[in-house]
Amino acid sequence: MSPLLPDATPESDALRERFARVAMRSAPVPQAVFARGEGAYVWDVDGRRFLDFLAGIAVNALGHAHPALVRAVADQAARLIHVSNYVTTPQGVDFAERVVRLTGAGPTGRVYPANSGAEAIEAAVKLARRTGRPRILAFENGFHGRTMGALAVTGKPALREPFEPMLPGVDHLPTDRAALEEAMGDDVAAVLLEPIKGEAGVVPLPDGFLTAARELTRQHGALLIADEIQTGAGRTGDWFAVQHEGVTPDAWVLAKGIGGGVPVGALVTTGAASDLFTLGQHGSTFGGNPLATGAASAVLAEIERADLVGNARRRGVELREAILGLDSPLVTEVRGRGLLLGVGLAAEVAPRVVDEAMRRGLIVNAPNATTIRLAPPLIIGDAEIAEFITLFADSLKAAA
Ligand SMILES: *Cc1c(COP(=O)(O)O)cnc(C)c1O
Repeated sequence: MSPLLPDATPESDALRERFARVAMRSAPVPQAVFARGEGAYVWDVDGRRFLDFLAGIAVNALGHAHPALVRAVADQAARLIHVSNYVTTPQGVDFAERVVRLTGAGPTGRVYPANSGAEAIEAAVKLARRTGRPRILAFENGFHGRTMGALAVTGKPALREPFEPMLPGVDHLPTDRAALEEAMGDDVAAVLLEPIKGEAGVVPLPDGFLTAARELTRQHGALLIADEIQTGAGRTGDWFAVQHEGVTPDAWVLAKGIGGGVPVGALVTTGAASDLFTLGQHGSTFGGNPLATGAASAVLAEIERADLVGNARRRGVELREAILGLDSPLVTEVRGRGLLLGVGLAAEVAPRVVDEAMRRGLIVNAPNATTIRLAPPLIIGDAEIAEFITLFADSLKAAA
């Protein structure tokens, strides 16, 4: 295996080789081997520093080793890590109340705690089944996770086909109002959408689409389920991306950023959707454990205390302007909102840009051949943006 980084030493190369031998073949060859992090920076096992503008794919909302999260995890680990779901803990209750308040689910709001995005989506798919209706409408190019139910609603045929047959009753529609109107009917249990399609390359819904989806689902008595796994917890400059259009769905699916790096997910419901599951119809051994929910509560409390939602909104505008200000012939547009941005490229060189960035000590990723995704920690300020712009400009030039 050739060394990816210019001054790779035996330590990271040896670990990359050991990983490649032992990891399931579904895992990509690792780009680097990281040892520690602080704020928006991580260091690899050879001591090289990287500016992290991916944040574990929109996960490390507070950056790395944030004292509020470190303290919450350490204190909780010393106190109580896990109990069965026959009982609860103050952390579990606090977490549920917090997400109900922040989503705006209101007095009928209820929460099912999960351990990952895909698991929270599985809960949403089962919730949809509880309507008694057979169909779920999802969208082309949408991404909802890799377990069988989540895969069935994912709109990328290449991911689904090796694992067919899929769960029946799912249609993947083009993301436009006419297609949704046409497909809608009283046999539809739920419409599942991402407010901004992250894995598709940070592609926002067309203007007015979310409002139309809300109206159509209401007319037909179907659930509107928002997959806010990537867009939630302040990332887009609102607590949740649906708030940008003033839309309240029947359910929100959360994960990634809410735990700041500790695995946690949630299905949040409001109104009649909160009464669809009856006693014993869903559950998880780890779901809602005090380590994960305590961590998530600490992350959400810190986002609120430090107004990181406002910071995401302001820094997102600055970042977009600075990227467009580079006047790079390679950059065609900057999509997305807040600190979930997709830089559209004029040629299929995104993987090369990622490699060039990595060599220079900058972490970004390429959800497809013509998009660079930026999802830095919500804590970034002037210094990180300035450093990013320098490194990114050099990476674009080197890849062009
Ligand atoms: C990451 C992601 C998922 C899957 O979450 P996992 O924790 O990887 O299972 C689902 N939906 C969206 C929008 C995501 O970004």
